[in-house]
Amino acid sequence: KTILLSIELIDLAGVPCALLIANDITERKRLENEFISLVSHELRTPLTSTMGALDLLGSGQLGTLTAQGQKVLSIATNNTERLIRLVNDILDLERMKSGKIFMRKAKCNAAELLITATEAMQAMADKLQVKLIVNPVAVELWADADRLLQTFTNLLSNAIKFSEPGDTVWIGATLSENQSIEPQADAPSYLLITFRDEGRGIPEDKLQIIFERFQQVDASDSRNKGGTGLGLAICRNIVQQHNGKIWVQSALGEGSTFYVLLPLADSN
Ligand code: ADP
Repeated sequence: KTILLSIELIDLAGVPCALLIANDITERKRLENEFISLVSHELRTPLTSTMGALDLLGSGQLGTLTAQGQKVLSIATNNTERLIRLVNDILDLERMKSGKIFMRKAKCNAAELLITATEAMQAMADKLQVKLIVNPVAVELWADADRLLQTFTNLLSNAIKFSEPGDTVWIGATLSENQSIEPQADAPSYLLITFRDEGRGIPEDKLQIIFERFQQVDASDSRNKGGTGLGLAICRNIVQQHNGKIWVQSALGEGSTFYVLLPLADSN
């Protein structure tokens, strides 16, 4: 059930009172989800065909484009790619939530995954001249390597996106206990992975909400930074399906640190 709680201050015969309103929005949420996934499914085919047509235009087979034409084509291509990314992310998240995507878990090396993610993001960091420093720990995780890679690249791409040229992004990994449960005799049995940046930071009232679908700190973020507001929701889903935890600490203007806590292979 999804319950929306709100408080209203009212005046009751001259006495100021607080009225607590509980609204059951479960059905509204379900319809909203259904609508979003239906629209996304319907958008996928025409978008793929638009992308194909744009590729054909750009290939020169239909004639050479003027410089102005090239510019217009590049704007259309970028925006179509963004829409395809959005639709794919929505469908991905929906399939994960409804349990239609299974995590294919196996033993995988945490250091290798972190280095692969860092290498994949290097080009994006070079464009901004952001330095990536990775300090991995050679331990085995019990995880779906592709999905973890998706999580790490998402977090890294955010760290780079919200950094300034000259900034540094640190990627670290240390063995840890799960802080939320009683310490065990054979602890630590978790790996705590951190993605720290020196970027703009996140206001305190948004620290939790950014893990929800379509939530961004600034409404202009999707336009200016090219995001969809779905990345962190996808990361959270993947981490939860690994019995892990994800959270963030941040101070405005001083950067952010995203934490991912994952069980080691031996603890499964
Ligand atoms: P997006 O595709 O917009 O990046 P995410 O779900 O990955 O979607 O992130 C949601 C929002 O959280 C971002 O739009 C941004 O406002 C904020 N955010 C995420 N990571 C960072 C970061 N490292 N520094 C500052 N803000 C961040």
